[in-house]
Amino acid sequence: MSTVLQEAGAGFVLIPPRSKAPTYKGWQRNPKPLAEAFQHAANGGNVGLLGGHNGLILLDADAHADKVLAAEPRLSRTVRIFRRNAPDRAKWIVRIAGELPPSKKAHGIIEVLATGTQGVIVGVHDSGAAIEYDGDTIITLTATDVAALWRTLTGEELGRTRRRDDAPPPDAEAVQRSMGLVATVLEAGTIKADAWQPYDNGGRLAELTHCPFVERTAEPNRQHGAEGKAFVIVHADGRIGAGCHSARCQHAIAAHGGSGWALLKEIAGYKPHTDDMAHARLLVEQLRGWVRRTDLAEQVPIVKQSDTGYRTRDTDTAVADAILDIAHERGRLERLPLSLRDLRARAGLGSANTAACALDRLLGWYVVKHPVSERKAWEAELYDLNPAIVAAAEDALQLAYIARSSATDTRFLDQANQRAIYATAPLVTHRQHDAFTASMTPITEEELQARIDARKARIEAGEDVRPIERSRYRRRLAAILPSAGRGVLRMIDALATEGSSTKAKLIDLLNVSPSSLSRLVSRAVDLGLVEADRHT
Ligand SMILES: [Zn+2]
Repeated sequence: MSTVLQEAGAGFVLIPPRSKAPTYKGWQRNPKPLAEAFQHAANGGNVGLLGGHNGLILLDADAHADKVLAAEPRLSRTVRIFRRNAPDRAKWIVRIAGELPPSKKAHGIIEVLATGTQGVIVGVHDSGAAIEYDGDTIITLTATDVAALWRTLTGEELGRTRRRDDAPPPDAEAVQRSMGLVATVLEAGTIKADAWQPYDNGGRLAELTHCPFVERTAEPNRQHGAEGKAFVIVHADGRIGAGCHSARCQHAIAAHGGSGWALLKEIAGYKPHTDDMAHARLLVEQLRGWVRRTDLAEQVPIVKQSDTGYRTRDTDTAVADAILDIAHERGRLERLPLSLRDLRARAGLGSANTAACALDRLLGWYVVKHPVSERKAWEAELYDLNPAIVAAAEDALQLAYIARSSATDTRFLDQANQRAIYATAPLVTHRQHDAFTASMTPITEEELQARIDARKARIEAGEDVRPIERSRYRRRLAAILPSAGRGVLRMIDALATEGSSTKAKLIDLLNVSPSSLSRLVSRAVDLGLVEADRHT
């Protein structure tokens, strides 16, 4: 049999002894070669045939193998897998010419083991019986032949019909609950769906406007077209499923472990603790204000700026803002998939290359690459917003919260009101100015330790808050003396060259906005570097 399998280009799956299920991830897309399968079998392991690989599938009769054979007599000429303690069972290996039939099971009648599945062909069954084979050729059939066999045996269509086994009674309440959960998850990832349609006797199906699984495929930036749409299904008993008709996405789902719904939740950034997402979004709003107020010339490393000055302020600001849009949609500040195409579209840039250059200028101080031990080829590069900036935003939020609590009765405030107060509290705006500029507010070791201790006490008291990470405060600890920042230095340089100057003249010289100049002046005044006359 090994020769015929080798010639047929079979792919194999390594399975523990006496088991029928592989225990490693990604077996659906990583067929093992014959030599490795041989070695594994020689060591006592079981070996499966990977369904669909090079057109090879298994037709599995787990009862009444004779009926299957009667319905498709050509199977008597192909390799048969069997064991002696189960004479009415058999698996036949078949090569499919052209399109593959779907993988599908009709319990007690027949199972088609094609893409995404495997069937044990070598080893020992759980019962202790050896798995044997006979035959030395593999016949070729078509998907149409398999569909005809399926129709003969089950009286149903193989195409899109659901598994026939044990359909539970419709449970309207469970369906409603699950539809609610689906809506929450889709909302978390801002994934748009068309209206729910009735599906299979009491269930519901919704097609997704854009396929979210694409981002986990080998071509994360290329949507697929006519080949099919992604969908979410709520079965009649409330079970939720998700998938896509595109083969590319099916690969990605299989590689993730096989559950489209699990992958969809991950892509949507859905976590049951919705408070975390709400909190992350408040932080995003803080950061958005900071991006709008900050002169990026002071942040972008000078080596990444042009020789003739900082000429990419608008582009960099737009990309920084687009990254916050993505963070808002995901409800998180880390593990953000930043595709150049997405950034280009969101920031309204001319090319993906422009987005790539801007992302490079933001790298290191605004976003950092998310540390991963191993990134698979089909996974997008992930980024975190710089923890130092996030820590400062946390501080600003905390202070805003304190300001709000002391100013008003908070019991009746909804989230929208809270957000408005965060944005307008004078303490916040003042504090942000300090916390977010390159010259961060210094924090002493003692102050930090006191904060860590206080947070620990809250955790021990059972509060659901996160421990303070010392590393996030490194920059703050280091900021013993606030640095002036490049913008201030440029201004002083201009003043030194020109002598005293009017605002209008400085704006022209420095190529900054009036508000940027005001900020530079007030910082320089704070530092005792210049004297400002309010009327000039
Ligand atoms: Zn898809």
